[in-house]
Amino acid sequence: MSDFEPGTVWLVGAGPGDPELLTRKAERLIRSATVVFHDALVGPGVLSLVPPETRLVSVGKRSGRHSKDQRTIDALIVEAALAGERVVRLKGGDPAVFGRATEELDSCRSAGIPVRICPGVTTACAAAAGLGLSLTLRGLARRLTFVTAHARAGEELVLDWSALADPQATLAIYMGKAAARTVSASLIAAGLDPATPVALVENASLPEERHFATRHDLLPLAARTTLGDGPALILVGQALAGSTGRGLAGANLSAEAVSAG
Ligand code: SAH
Repeated sequence: MSDFEPGTVWLVGAGPGDPELLTRKAERLIRSATVVFHDALVGPGVLSLVPPETRLVSVGKRSGRHSKDQRTIDALIVEAALAGERVVRLKGGDPAVFGRATEELDSCRSAGIPVRICPGVTTACAAAAGLGLSLTLRGLARRLTFVTAHARAGEELVLDWSALADPQATLAIYMGKAAARTVSASLIAAGLDPATPVALVENASLPEERHFATRHDLLPLAARTTLGDGPALILVGQALAGSTGRGLAGANLSAEAVSAG
């Protein structure tokens, strides 16, 4: 394949989990790789497309449980490419969204290794699809913000809360489960209406997908009591107003239900 000579690296978006959400290009690259380095968030459905003769290496990172640090991952990729392998670095969602792609691109480029990106469906889009609603709304939600609530170990979460508290924006908060309390308190302190609709989507696009709809001031409680071990995305804004009672797979949390619980 002319775009995948030996010694080439592709950073490939695996999408949010459902293998049918892979691009055709991603599937072709996965099938032609000689080695695939994958994140913990890439699930069995996608990994089953990796041919049995292909070396499959988990470099899994889940919050607080890093199995390999970023430098080790960069070095493994570079080493495999220099050895003449066709390398796929398979990342959940889209590689360019909170995926540490820059470190891997830089490492390859400084070693003279050709490296390219194959985009994937990012979680926010899959979550909206699961909820059956649009992330943007004419006149009401004119801005879509992807933000991570993950702070580096031992560091405080520093975000521009007043910019994020825009009532005309939809916020898609990645890695937000652990920081839900801080996120909620900070947005309200910055002026966001506590009644702003919120949706939590766990395991978007997978058979275990679950949704919870609530209001912003109840987000910490909802994040603590409703979510399981799966990855979860928090969506905030008027665009989520329709997420209650739309045939959601999970329970809906009304303000009353949460305070009673
Ligand atoms: N590159 C990825 C994001 C990586 S950051 C993308 O484009 O989607 C990891 C975070 O993404 C998780 O902490 C969670 O917030 C979110 N995430 C990834 N997969 C998810 C899924 N299937 N369902 C819900 N959230 C998911």
